[in-house]
Amino acid sequence: ENVVNKIAAGEVIQRPASALKEMLENSLDAGSTQISVTVKEGGNKLLQITDNGSGIRKDDLPILCHRHTTSKLRQYEDLETISTLGFRGEALCSISFVSHMSVTTMARGAQYGYRVTFKDSEMEPPGPRPVAAVPGTTITVEDLFYNVPTRRKALKSATEEYGLILDVVGRYAVYSTGVALTCRRQGDSRPDISTTAAGSRVDAVRSVYGTEVARELLPLCVSAGGGTGPEVPVDGPMGLRVEGLISGANYGSGKKTVLVLFINGRCVECSPLRRCLEGLYGTLLPKAARPWIFLDVRLPPRQVEVNMHPTKREVGFMHQVEVIEEIRRAVESKLLASNE
Ligand code: ADP
Ligand code: MG
Repeated sequence: ENVVNKIAAGEVIQRPASALKEMLENSLDAGSTQISVTVKEGGNKLLQITDNGSGIRKDDLPILCHRHTTSKLRQYEDLETISTLGFRGEALCSISFVSHMSVTTMARGAQYGYRVTFKDSEMEPPGPRPVAAVPGTTITVEDLFYNVPTRRKALKSATEEYGLILDVVGRYAVYSTGVALTCRRQGDSRPDISTTAAGSRVDAVRSVYGTEVARELLPLCVSAGGGTGPEVPVDGPMGLRVEGLISGANYGSGKKTVLVLFINGRCVECSPLRRCLEGLYGTLLPKAARPWIFLDVRLPPRQVEVNMHPTKREVGFMHQVEVIEEIRRAVESKLLASNE
């Protein structure tokens, strides 16, 4: 049975960056405003995340890593309008099958914190031990895939794996204004990513992607069609709101296009949109053809497919052709206006 579980875990958690993404989303779902990530050897040796969120109550700890334990989904109908990033209760379960995992947590209003370790979805004896703590949660994942040699062999170098982790943290750092996010290699005094809760989104871009990118970003704002609220039915009319930041003519072109895309708060990929925008920059601004683009897209929740496979980053949504065309037109007129 554990073999099956290990294989299933490998499907949800493919590499350190995917484990980290799940942990980061949990910290955000817990309402954290401070999140720090520490990594050793590209996450193979250590992935640690500390947040100041809601914490986990002692009574909830024994089942924390059971499959389908989630505090976020009460009934199936919730799925249509779910506002949290997680809802499957699969991530921690999977991670516990393929690593050494420990959790230190203190719920808001609790007297103590507790520390507990997990193995194969179960709490290890003797169970939660009281410890001095501050409100919030620290999850430590060591020796990821220690028991799945094939998965381990498929990983890239520690440097490359760390790069993928920075990519995930960087995207959330730009999106999550109001949250102070840091990411560092264990032992380094200077973090590689460090944003403040009070900083603007442009400040976050500067901190993550550098001054060159942040210097002349153009603000983008799109509003098209009807509402984007939870009441709009699946087959309702298109409703679209976008806020974005896009590089302009003076951006010296990166090595590759960066599209930081969030749809209804989820970090996703959308290849048709990426290709469309790449094509547009290539035509209008050949010298700055590999743009840097951030888009915070809002669509009616019922028209976005959230129940996709955890590793499948491509998002599906209704009215795709029209939505992409609206965004393309807005980017085009912004670039033309700024280039006059
Ligand atoms: P999901 O996010 O889909 O609910 P997970 O396996 O990612 O499932 O997490 C299981 C549960 O553990 C969550 O529903 C939440 O209640 C709790 N949890 C995990 N991480 C944290 C955290 N950092 N702070 C508070 N609660 C957490
Ligand atoms: Mg989760």
